[in-house]
Amino acid sequence: MTILVLNAGSSSLKLAVLDPVSGVRRLTALAERLGTPQASVRVNREDAVALDDPSFAGALTFLQPRLQERDLRIHGIGHRVVHGGEQFTAATLIDDAVCRAIDTCSRLAPLHNPANLAGITATRTLFPDLPQVAVFDTAFHQTMPPQAWRYAVPEAWYREHGVRRYGFHGTSHRYVAARAAEMIGRPLAELALITAHLGNGCSAAAISGGRSLDTTMGLTPLEGLVMGTRSGDVDPGIIAHLVQATGQDAVAITRQLNSASGLLGLSGLSNDMRTITTAAADGHPGANLALTVFCYRLAKHIAALTVALGRLDALVFTGGIGEHSAVVRARTLALLGFLGLREDPVANASDGDANGRITLPGGTQALVVPTDEERLIAQDTADLIARRRESTR
Ligand code: ADP
Repeated sequence: MTILVLNAGSSSLKLAVLDPVSGVRRLTALAERLGTPQASVRVNREDAVALDDPSFAGALTFLQPRLQERDLRIHGIGHRVVHGGEQFTAATLIDDAVCRAIDTCSRLAPLHNPANLAGITATRTLFPDLPQVAVFDTAFHQTMPPQAWRYAVPEAWYREHGVRRYGFHGTSHRYVAARAAEMIGRPLAELALITAHLGNGCSAAAISGGRSLDTTMGLTPLEGLVMGTRSGDVDPGIIAHLVQATGQDAVAITRQLNSASGLLGLSGLSNDMRTITTAAADGHPGANLALTVFCYRLAKHIAALTVALGRLDALVFTGGIGEHSAVVRARTLALLGFLGLREDPVANASDGDANGRITLPGGTQALVVPTDEERLIAQDTADLIARRRESTR
């Protein structure tokens, strides 16, 4: 099968046509600055082209002839959807009722779900004959037990307003856990893993037998680890304190916790880990502090997540930072020697040996596993299409 995978953000649209089994891309496209006069789209490595109609539908209409070229033969469309609430525990074939449910979940992800839905609406109009599937960032974490997903807050907040921990990056955590099992050479069903997805957003998950038991993000992606521009864990008392001290409202302060904090807030320099590590090596005090807090918080959360597992077979690093920053991995492992993790400096410097391993033999393993969320979305989509064919046969 050939599957079109769509990731619609608030002002961008990422698109890939791929073989779900091999993961080989047959076409990729990125539309950026949608909704503005500067909207453009780039197909494969060709030059960017300005869009006359800067909407999602405009970008897809522009791409439609390329997607319908005879040799591509797309069988179905998989959509990344950020929030599936408690309703969606796995990938789902899209119909009108599913669209309504995704819309209902928008109250939990007001920046993301409406954009995801706009992508779905546009492709349902342009490709009415193709089956479409929603793959949710939250679904993988729906196996968490109540002690992991409940906040210790009044029950009515949960019942009436959905205030609980959902977790995100589920597609990445699920993909790298399965790949890690292959690379280690043991069945996923036997393994107790912690996966650390470290990109612009960062989260870690405790995965036992392929099921998520706990994760660091919560109701929103703000909770947990230090990220590029997000604070991660803070005392919620900070918000009322700053409302009183500065006269800003809670929404404005929360916006700064999301977009002016993390590596950027600590360093005063950048949200980009490459810039931070280079500046820290040159003695920049803010960058050094940002790197130290980032690795300390990460190690602290990894240690906490071992409580959910009772033991640790392997720690997995993924995402742009996890896959490429030997400094972050080395500093994090150095704080976790008591879990049996001992860095192999040579393997770590080359982003892992042939099996991704970056630790010395004999102890607990840590490995680098490149993530590929688009490939798992394509696999889920192809599986659901095949199952639907079976059931209608
Ligand atoms: P996103 O979450 O947007 O998909 P990525 O997974 O690509 O982002 O991760 C982006 C982060 O990865 C940035 O902080 C970037 O600096 C970092 N990164 C990418 N390459 C390297 C590298 N060689 N060394 C250190 N950090 C890197």
